[in-house]
Amino acid sequence: MKTSDKNESRVARRVIVVGGGLAGLTTVMKLCEAGVPVDLFSLVPVKRSHSVCAQGGINASVNTKGEGDSPRIHLEETVYGGDFLANQPPVKGMADAAPGIVFMLDRMGVPFNRTPEGLLDFRRFGGTLFHRTAFAGATTGQQLLYALDEQVRRWETVDVEDSKGAALRGEKMVRKLEHWDFLGIVQDDAGRCVGIVAQDMKTMAIEAFRGDAVCLATGGPGIVFGRSTNSVINTGTAAAAAYRQGALYANGELIQVHPTAIPGADKLRLISESARGEGGRVWVPKDPKDKRKGREIPERERDYFLEAKYPGYGNLVPRDIASRELFAKCFHDKRGVYNPKTEKNENEVYLDLTRIPKETLRKKLAGILEIYEKFVGEDPYENPMRVFPAVHYSMGGLWVDFEKSADGGLVRGSPRNQATNIDGLYAAGEVDYQYHGANRLGANSLLSCIYAGLEAGPAIAAYRKGLAASAHDVPQSVFDKAEKREAERYQKILAMDGDENPYALHKELGEVMLRDCTIERDNAVLGKVIETIGELEDRAKNVGVPDTGDHANHGAQFVRHLSNMLVLARVIAEGALARDESRGAHYKPAFKQRDDERWLRTTLALYERGEGARSSVKFVRQLDATIAGKSVTITDAVDTTLVTPRARKYETAGAASAAATGASSADKQPST
Ligand SMILES: Cc1cc2nc3c(=O)[nH]c(=O)nc-3n(C[C@H](O)[C@H](O)[C@H](O)COP(=O)(O)OP(=O)(O)OC[C@H]3O[C@@H](n4cnc5c(N)ncnc54)[C@H](O)[C@@H]3O)c2cc1C
Repeated sequence: MKTSDKNESRVARRVIVVGGGLAGLTTVMKLCEAGVPVDLFSLVPVKRSHSVCAQGGINASVNTKGEGDSPRIHLEETVYGGDFLANQPPVKGMADAAPGIVFMLDRMGVPFNRTPEGLLDFRRFGGTLFHRTAFAGATTGQQLLYALDEQVRRWETVDVEDSKGAALRGEKMVRKLEHWDFLGIVQDDAGRCVGIVAQDMKTMAIEAFRGDAVCLATGGPGIVFGRSTNSVINTGTAAAAAYRQGALYANGELIQVHPTAIPGADKLRLISESARGEGGRVWVPKDPKDKRKGREIPERERDYFLEAKYPGYGNLVPRDIASRELFAKCFHDKRGVYNPKTEKNENEVYLDLTRIPKETLRKKLAGILEIYEKFVGEDPYENPMRVFPAVHYSMGGLWVDFEKSADGGLVRGSPRNQATNIDGLYAAGEVDYQYHGANRLGANSLLSCIYAGLEAGPAIAAYRKGLAASAHDVPQSVFDKAEKREAERYQKILAMDGDENPYALHKELGEVMLRDCTIERDNAVLGKVIETIGELEDRAKNVGVPDTGDHANHGAQFVRHLSNMLVLARVIAEGALARDESRGAHYKPAFKQRDDERWLRTTLALYERGEGARSSVKFVRQLDATIAGKSVTITDAVDTTLVTPRARKYETAGAASAAATGASSADKQPST
């Protein structure tokens, strides 16, 4: 029997979306538009999803300022900035869709900044010479998240209808389950994903849920590095759980370090690239012994080192390059600026906005400047800010498929788009690996999250339509078994009474990952990182659970997340060890060149159990899988059919000018 896309037998045949950030909400919205009812799970209230923190903006080549920008150039610059590791058809799809996405958000009521003429305003961001970034002050993520949240709330009031159009009593199109922690997927005997097991973080009840498909939109894993610009919930636990169940994890080693954050004991608060987009300049005093306040140091005694080395892009070189330069300036050249509070030179540089009129700063950057003032206690309108690089974003994530269209983009509505290698399991947003290659350009993530959601929704609807049997007809025993498995795991955690402190282990993990697995990587050091991860995995089996309570037990939850963070840390570190080249955010001084011959390929990691308590990673070049009911062979080849890979040369020129002069693969360019 073919499963109808309608809800027969008075059963709401739901699909499941885990994650209510931009990617999750967009996926839900598109599913509802296609008539598919959804269970939406989120660890935190949807409106507190990490997307709310995004500051600077969202890219779209609308070309309002008449600079000659276009989606084609956006595609070129994205793959060039990502050092050619991204599959190009999805990037093309994203760049083509971007203007429409920004107009859609505008219509939804996002209060984007506007020009005096009333047009959408666009600012500059890294890796481009164009004004391509739409923004709502410096709180763009919040405005976008709230707008999409409103759309989804609307569906929370709409009745689910059966195949005859009659309302299913009590069943609304969206059922929102906040404060639930995803524990794992449920698979039927054929390995198809038919639901999830999750834990209610108030009552601690563990329950299995049916879903004709599941989409993980659970964000990034920044907390693996201890302190980062990410929210504390960004442990990557859901991706790790799916990886442990057989989902491929791709390009895990590609971790973005943002050049400008405020060093802090608890977290590293971001000062968005938009500060440089609006004219902020990075510098250090020419004299490293200079103890004057930044604002007292005269112009001629300042070293604007990014502007000097990259005259075209200046302070807006892509993040991988800017972070490396800042790091080198502080660690190798010992040129970090004097901090009057600690009375010594720290690993910090100045980010200076003081020459920009205060009125402009208030209008465009107030959100981030308030953060600086609050946490540093200095007025950034009057004083250059002190900043340093911080772990920020994961280009790597769950491997997802795509179906290429005749014009080189994506076939909208193909059930392959955003599908993982586990049939019925999809992924969208920062949790997927698809759009940014080896380095993400600023303001491309809000875009890729929303675009991935726009693709995932129709893809899942099509997948569901083609199902031979609904998850809602799978025997209950399959769900009982999965629920029992997770309940037993949780009971084991509650019974842990060893000497190790899980938070201390996490601190150790974060310190070693941050120090040895970020901006500069060395094989001998990475070997030690991997050894440490193994030791931490051993010790994590001997923790004492901090809380055994039966209500809101975040201590026991943390023990689970720690175990998953260790698994992801191994994927990141082993991927970094294996990739003997330098590409985008992955930089090995011993292998300074990009090596397209050997490494223009996706790192594909499969989970394996290691010895004792340890995990192990198996890197594969190809893998047979069933996607949307069809047998496919996944390979690590990167689709570079639209823009021929070439060396990145930000010192001498911009990708934009290269594109404009036809220096790139003009012969292969599709019409856009
Ligand atoms: C400080 C900061 C500023 C940024 N500024 C910009 C910017 O200006 N422009 C830009 O393009 N990008 C920016 N980024 C990046 C961008 O914000 C993120 O990549 C993006 O918002 C991620 O969205 P998402 O939907 O994938 O995930 P998130 O918004 O992180 O949402 C994840 C969702 O998954 C849920 N979840 C997670 N784990 C579980 C679990 N185990 N069980 C159940 N639910 C779970 C969470 O509750 C949440 O609802 C910024 C990032 C940071 C850190």
